[in-house]
Amino acid sequence: MDFKLSEDDLMLQETAADLAAKRIKPNAEKWDEEEGLPQEILDEMAELGYFGMLLPEEYGGLELTTVTYNCAMEELAAACAGLMVMLSVHNSLCCEAINRFGSDELKQKYLPDMAAGKTIGAYCLTEPNAGTDVASLKTSAVKKGDNYIINGTKAFVTNGGLAGMFIVFAVTDPEKGAKGGFSCFAIPKDTPGITVGAKEKKMGVKTSDTREVSFADVEVPAANMIGEEGSGFKIAVIILNNGRIGIAFQSLGIARAALEEAISYSKERKQFGQPIAGFQAIQFKLAHMATKIDAGRLLAFRAATMKDEGANVAKESSMAKLFCSQTCNYVVNEAVQIHGGYGYMKEYPVERYFRDARVTEIYEGTSEAQLMVISSQLLKE
Ligand SMILES: Cc1cc2nc3c(=O)[nH]c(=O)nc-3n(C[C@H](O)[C@H](O)[C@H](O)COP(=O)(O)OP(=O)(O)OC[C@H]3O[C@@H](n4cnc5c(N)ncnc54)[C@H](O)[C@@H]3O)c2cc1C
Repeated sequence: MDFKLSEDDLMLQETAADLAAKRIKPNAEKWDEEEGLPQEILDEMAELGYFGMLLPEEYGGLELTTVTYNCAMEELAAACAGLMVMLSVHNSLCCEAINRFGSDELKQKYLPDMAAGKTIGAYCLTEPNAGTDVASLKTSAVKKGDNYIINGTKAFVTNGGLAGMFIVFAVTDPEKGAKGGFSCFAIPKDTPGITVGAKEKKMGVKTSDTREVSFADVEVPAANMIGEEGSGFKIAVIILNNGRIGIAFQSLGIARAALEEAISYSKERKQFGQPIAGFQAIQFKLAHMATKIDAGRLLAFRAATMKDEGANVAKESSMAKLFCSQTCNYVVNEAVQIHGGYGYMKEYPVERYFRDARVTEIYEGTSEAQLMVISSQLLKE
């Protein structure tokens, strides 16, 4: 497998690194305090095509490969993990669900505005009582003439307050459950009966907007079903493979930023009359951090490359997400340790990286859920 980046990959990576360095990183601390992103940065990113990164050019997208897209996303994550996850949910979960499984009519109707950033997507799978156990979804979709009536509540919806389009998974056949009884719908925000809750107060990724979203007798045309009736579980699983590769790259971005801070701090901070970088205990920490990040990067590139080749990446995307998110948490913890007491203060960015890292082992499937996917694939092989 060749992990050499193409000219296109390198160009996109450079453009994203430039945007991150000039516009995102200098403001990330402030946006974290404000717990949100200003409209102007969303507009700027829309102008650059960041809301249609994976979509075909015919809908106004950049039509990037998984590898190129994730090279750019890692750069954004290194600057602001919350901004990155906002884009990741929109691009790799919501746009992809419609683009890969939606009808031509749905694609033509919704994708141009989504690619332009005029309509932001939110992915509504998790419910208050259905997290890891996705098969226990309760949100219902009952057929009534040419429409479906949706009732239920979704939890922890990223982009909940920004979204113009909700991608909603609901039960169309309770008897069949996850085995052919779930379906997926594209529901525009202006459909009557949708209530978006208050913004959740979170530990990290505070610039992302997370809310509960409820659906009360929401009437959706049958034409807004994504894929066939009963294919919802399959769609959710395939789409989450994209998302997991994205979270692997998000983890690498946060970890890399923390390592860079740790290296530069260790060269500046003096104790016992010398920079702490002179102590082998600190050097070995840096060496372990860098080695794990590079090992994670190989897993993440393998999953992204295989996905671009059209392979089933259930196992590989889970391995990448598991290892990179665990590495991220290991690295940020060591980065705080290298900063000593200063690492615990908001004055240094490692404090934010430490908070942002935690969720990488939780969302888009916990580490335990990744272990379940990996082991079930191994036992199938
Ligand atoms: C900031 C944030 C943003 C999110 N964004 C979205 C979003 O946009 N859309 C969306 O649909 N969801 C979203 N989620 C939800 C996220 O995917 C879930 O939180 C996650 O899947 C875990 O579900 P849960 O929180 O209900 O935990 P639970 O499933 O209740 O798990 C609790 C603990 O038990 C463990 N556990 C559960 N079952 C088993 C088992 N069989 N074996 C071993 N251990 C087990 C879990 O690993 C975990 O450690 C988001 C979550 C957060 C925190």
